[in-house]
Amino acid sequence: MFIDIAKIFVKAGDGGNGAVSFHREKYVAAGGPDGGDGGKGGDVLFQADSNLSTLADFRYKRKYAAARGENGRGGRCSGKSAPDLLIKVPRGTLVKDADTGRVLADIWDDEPQVIAKGGKGGWGNTHFATPARQTPRFAKPGLAGQQFNVQLELKLLADVGLVGFPNVGKSTLISVVSEAKPNIADYHFTTLTPVLGVVPLGEGRSFVMADIPGLIEGAWEGRGLGHQFLRHVERCRMLVHIVDVSGSEGRDPKEDFRIINEELQKFNPQLAERPMLVAGNKCDLAEEEQVADFRRFVEELGYQFFPIIAPINEDVDPLINAITAQLQKLPPILRYQPEPVELTPVEELEKGRTNVTESEGVYTVDAPWLQRILQTVDLDDSESLQYFQRVLVSGGVIDALREAGCGEGDTVDIYGLEFDFVE
Ligand code: GDP
Ligand code: MG
Repeated sequence: MFIDIAKIFVKAGDGGNGAVSFHREKYVAAGGPDGGDGGKGGDVLFQADSNLSTLADFRYKRKYAAARGENGRGGRCSGKSAPDLLIKVPRGTLVKDADTGRVLADIWDDEPQVIAKGGKGGWGNTHFATPARQTPRFAKPGLAGQQFNVQLELKLLADVGLVGFPNVGKSTLISVVSEAKPNIADYHFTTLTPVLGVVPLGEGRSFVMADIPGLIEGAWEGRGLGHQFLRHVERCRMLVHIVDVSGSEGRDPKEDFRIINEELQKFNPQLAERPMLVAGNKCDLAEEEQVADFRRFVEELGYQFFPIIAPINEDVDPLINAITAQLQKLPPILRYQPEPVELTPVEELEKGRTNVTESEGVYTVDAPWLQRILQTVDLDDSESLQYFQRVLVSGGVIDALREAGCGEGDTVDIYGLEFDFVE
């Protein structure tokens, strides 16, 4: 069965706790602190696997958790970081935060992408020794790993999408121009999965064609099977609309053409703007006048028209050449960009709830609304860091620090993240 949508839960590992420990040795009194740091929790990563073509595996296993980092130990021993958890998905899988709809990643190339970050390990008490505090009896707990309810959506990667009513010859066309061998039969809904075929153009060049099955009137609102598959049209750089010009099933080809275009438009208005070529199939069953009449109709609407007889590969070359020419002018396949975290209305409201307390020259920020954002920020990434700084300013954290007397060079602690205050 073709499963192209799944909901799972992913949790990255928590960081291990820092240790509180003091050096002990015979005849040595009151040794210094030697508690090691906790190890980092494992990340959850997603990676494309070309051997997978559906999300069916995720129907059976829905929870994925990476291990937590080891706790630190005495003798300055750091805890081991936990291994990452790698989840394989079909190429073209969109990973979204199921609770907010935010795009986390588009899994498309071979590069594994971190979706949930493991928590940092907490510092052991060695870090907290100062001349004034030689026996720190505290350490930091590890930070929580990120967790998400994740919606996976497979959106096939194809240059060209074949659209049209059932039985007009979509599967037949893809089977004669590519290596794909979908079922072809004289009844509706033979094709229950979108089929991808690579169309070779010679000299190592090719394009990918997708047979988008099951479109009928009302598909956009859930009739037939088409609504499941319309999603796969969204990435296509262009469309080829196949129409049975002979009207062999008793429908009017012009009406067919109008209906399918309307379905695309209603599902996603951008689809109506996608470049489209029109192929009039089953010309062997049509009167010449029927074909000429349909040609006039589509050409008047501004489309290029190609009469073909798909099963015997008749006049298919001009269509393929026109597709190739069109593709050369088009941007590459649509790739979705990760979206930044937006504050929820509750977090917006709570922005004011920022407390700063000072102790021994360290200004500790307590602002519960910041915690979720802090989890998503990658401090090694300059863009992410800039975003975090903007949030600190817009959320009034910087003002609150100033009010508490924090100045240039003072140490600021935000949930275990320490940095120097810079004016
Ligand atoms: P799909 O539902 O659009 O994928 O249509 P299929 O490719 O499965 O074709 C439906 C039926 O129409 C099959 O029985 C095909 O053999 C037949 N068919 C497809 N193209 C032509 C054509 O150009 N001429 C004729 N006579 N039959 C065709
Ligand atoms: Mg078919």
